[in-house]
Amino acid sequence: MKVIDIINKSEKTIFSFELLPPLKGNDAGVITRTIESLLDYNPQYINITTHREEQEYRELADGTIEKRAIRKRPGTVAIAASIQYKYGIPVVPHILCGGFTKSETEYMLIDLNFLGIENVLALRGDGIKGQQVFQPTPGGHANANELVKQIVDLREGKYLDSDLKNNTPLDFCIGVAGYPEKHFESPNPELDLQYLKQKVNAGADYIVTQMFFDNKKYFDFVDRCRAAGITVPIIPGLKPINLKNQLTVLPKIFSIDLPQELALELARCKDNDAAKIVGTEWAIHQAKELVARNVPSLHIYTYGISDNTRKIVEAVF
Ligand code: FAD
Repeated sequence: MKVIDIINKSEKTIFSFELLPPLKGNDAGVITRTIESLLDYNPQYINITTHREEQEYRELADGTIEKRAIRKRPGTVAIAASIQYKYGIPVVPHILCGGFTKSETEYMLIDLNFLGIENVLALRGDGIKGQQVFQPTPGGHANANELVKQIVDLREGKYLDSDLKNNTPLDFCIGVAGYPEKHFESPNPELDLQYLKQKVNAGADYIVTQMFFDNKKYFDFVDRCRAAGITVPIIPGLKPINLKNQLTVLPKIFSIDLPQELALELARCKDNDAAKIVGTEWAIHQAKELVARNVPSLHIYTYGISDNTRKIVEAVF
């Protein structure tokens, strides 16, 4: 089932969560344990992230340095399909511009269609570590709006190979990312919103936000989107803090602020266990207010840690 249909049919806030594929060489145990511990709360769909290649340097026996590109978390499509088949819950694999050519993307979408997957989240992705700015993969897309357009073209049976005849249309529901606190590369919030609108105009069905820790930022963002004529559902993304160092790591990685009250509480925590309690309580507080304001869905960045997600949904639904 398509995420947009699930949202439109639901009269109250639903719940979804996001998982990482296992590290190369690991089995899917963490994923299945996470899902099984949350099944009681009726998650309506599950997102699976995608990770592009990373550059690694290693010293060889003769002292020379070898540079190689490796994907540490392959397997998004296979994991997504196995989840959907095993649990009967719709999945949303993430599709990236970075690291993929348009042809590779098309092949991935064809595979997803054969596997019965109807949803994707279309993202640009970040540059490879060490790149100052994102550089498009040769033969790939520069921004997520171009990727959305490629996926939308398939709804009309337009494949990259224009000579193909009697083409089967592929009809994916498309989500895109939005940034209540602005994307870190954007010169200003207005331009960021303009580019977000471009993704929606290209055919995106809904927006999922970057994590935020102050609900006011989300509500303001929704108001600004509506004022700019963006009418699609805007799903808030919640990240329960579970490590003390996330006090500084999250703002650095995601270009977001932690409210002073939360920052002070985390700074006072003696260890990760204490930080997890603070982070979970904060997320519960956020979730309750969001649900009271009737947001379409709560999207939780679970990333393989399910006990705090469980506490949030237990407290809220
Ligand atoms: P875009 O929408 O392309 O925007 C990127 C930047 O370019 C912005 O500053 C925007 O304002 C600007 N811009 C947009 N369009 C144009 C244009 N036409 N011309 C000029 N500038 C433009 N990353 C992963 O690697 N894997 C994942 O699985 C993943 N999942 C995510 C899930 C969610 C819900 C979110 C919020 C983020 C996720 N990310 C993931 C991170 C994401 O890839 C990065 O934030 C990335 O830097 C931007 O992606 P985007 O799709 O928002 O890009």
